[in-house]
Amino acid sequence: MAERSAAALHWLVAPLVLWGLTRLFPPTGTRRKASTAIRTAYRLWHEHTRKCTDGCKNVHKALDGCEGGRELWAAYRRAYAGGPR
Ligand SMILES: [Zn+2]
Repeated sequence: MAERSAAALHWLVAPLVLWGLTRLFPPTGTRRKASTAIRTAYRLWHEHTRKCTDGCKNVHKALDGCEGGRELWAAYRRAYAGGPR
């Protein structure tokens, strides 16, 4: 089934993208402190992509998803870059 393999590909790509992001961001002192917020933000986005019927399901990049998905992804990026505020 084409749709099934597309979804499977999405689950393969998402961790790879995340791994790439961890390589791009330099380690900082806030990184460990922020890790819980990062995980939470990522989980919210991940859960959204599972439930979303508005384009997030089969996207290869979070930024190709719906507005809600992009907002959750932006929150994840903020958590990663700046930690909890
Ligand atoms: Zn979405």
